[in-house]
Amino acid sequence: MILTLFTAQYGLQKGFAKSARNSRKRFGAVLEPFTKAIFQWKKGRGALWLLQDAELITSHLGLRTDFQRLSLASYGVELICLLLEEGEAQQIIYEMLCSFLEYLERGGNELIARTLFELRLIYLLGYMPHLLHCSECLKIFDAELIRFDANRGGSLCLDCAGSVGMPVELGTIGSLARSLKVSHRQFEGFSFGSITLQQSGQILTQVLQNVLPREPKSLKFLSPL
Ligand SMILES: [Zn+2]
Repeated sequence: MILTLFTAQYGLQKGFAKSARNSRKRFGAVLEPFTKAIFQWKKGRGALWLLQDAELITSHLGLRTDFQRLSLASYGVELICLLLEEGEAQQIIYEMLCSFLEYLERGGNELIARTLFELRLIYLLGYMPHLLHCSECLKIFDAELIRFDANRGGSLCLDCAGSVGMPVELGTIGSLARSLKVSHRQFEGFSFGSITLQQSGQILTQVLQNVLPREPKSLKFLSPL
């Protein structure tokens, strides 16, 4: 059986566990999704790791008690699989994913979790759009009406936007920019208004649609924004 592992030091890796039935006996719960464990491995055929042994750290069983939470955890993991190259070390993204899963397991707010996770992933992978100034004339926003269009680089002043892009509030853009100033591991202590969450969701969805190779399968199980 083939496993996909996400590690701090070696990024995404595919591992091979010999004969599924024996593997289940040998590795047990460690082969379940979202499990955090220490894996012993050696080089297998091609790029595959051959798993030798595994020591469970946590199964994140709490994620399985609620369908929305489980779907959101699946979505987070799928985004990582779709956006990261295999073998590319991403320590900070690894830590962020661990904190995201822990926060969801503790019963954290799902909309806040999704917003922060998408935002940080976009930022850490270098796909961040222009936020606090117009992406075309570079004018810094003060209190005016603005629009957002990921295809044109991000926020736009009304003069540059014309009739394209979606109207967003400067407050939403400011909240997104401020959220990047705290630790990538922090999910607690945020409070966003409903308009901010809704507009942030639309902004981040637009940016992700531009960089994802395909729509994540887990997306259809998530509540609409
Ligand atoms: Zn402009």
